[in-house]
Amino acid sequence: MSPIASDRNLPVVSPTDLPGDYDATVDPKVGLDGLPGALGADPPLAPTTDFLNELEKESRQLESATPTEILRWAVDRYAPKFTMATAFGPEGMTIIHMLAQIAPETPIFNLDTGYQFEETLQLRERVKERYGIEVEFKLPELSVEAFEKANGGPMYQTDPNRCCFERKLKVLHRAAQGWHAWASAIRRDQSPDRAKAPIVGWDKKFHLVKISPLANWTKKDVWSLITKEDIPYNPLHDRGYPSIGCQPCTRAVMAGEDERAGRWSGFQKTECGLHSS
Ligand code: SF4
Repeated sequence: MSPIASDRNLPVVSPTDLPGDYDATVDPKVGLDGLPGALGADPPLAPTTDFLNELEKESRQLESATPTEILRWAVDRYAPKFTMATAFGPEGMTIIHMLAQIAPETPIFNLDTGYQFEETLQLRERVKERYGIEVEFKLPELSVEAFEKANGGPMYQTDPNRCCFERKLKVLHRAAQGWHAWASAIRRDQSPDRAKAPIVGWDKKFHLVKISPLANWTKKDVWSLITKEDIPYNPLHDRGYPSIGCQPCTRAVMAGEDERAGRWSGFQKTECGLHSS
């Protein structure tokens, strides 16, 4: 067993110890080489029944902890196999700010679909200037030009689900491979699906431990900290964009509209599939 595992008493087990009903398969179209998420880590971390029970217990104990305390716990427990994916939203910026105080060495990455707003891309530079943290861009296999050429034009106009699969989900599955845990910026009050999120739990979609330090926070809590600490944020939020994704699939919302009404407007789609179970 590696020092990483033994130092932290992680129940490092082989994927062959998985409970019989655990499905570790990832869509073959993702093209993963080896096992997904933490199952493909060195050493592998697998969700045995005992480990899941332990996560549940730890999650309950962390319910009253502050987001910074939760992140500190995550770093103590899982670094250097702890990472974070960010779309540079207000919640993600808040977590980056907290990590900069307690563990600035935490690897952070962004899925650069090639369709992000210039204002979003600039946030990477602002994070670097403010915190000295270099967020890594994870790119799809094909450039936008090659992707559109291969598919007869912009796929977001005809099949946004497949476009998200090709340019976000595939990239994220590959990026999640080899880590034990990652931080998520979701809040429980964002949707009925997210309302069930534990502070710490097993991410069945990407196969690693998911830590949600802001689960108990409200939008107001997030923006209060951003204002108080002068945390960089996307200037599009001041121009009517409460939720920001790729440029072609995001519009400003009108007064009274739902926060996510500007995402994939005109399609029966509200999530890119990263956080839904
Ligand atoms: S949000 Fe739009 S442009 Fe971005 S990956 Fe999904 S469908 Fe494609």
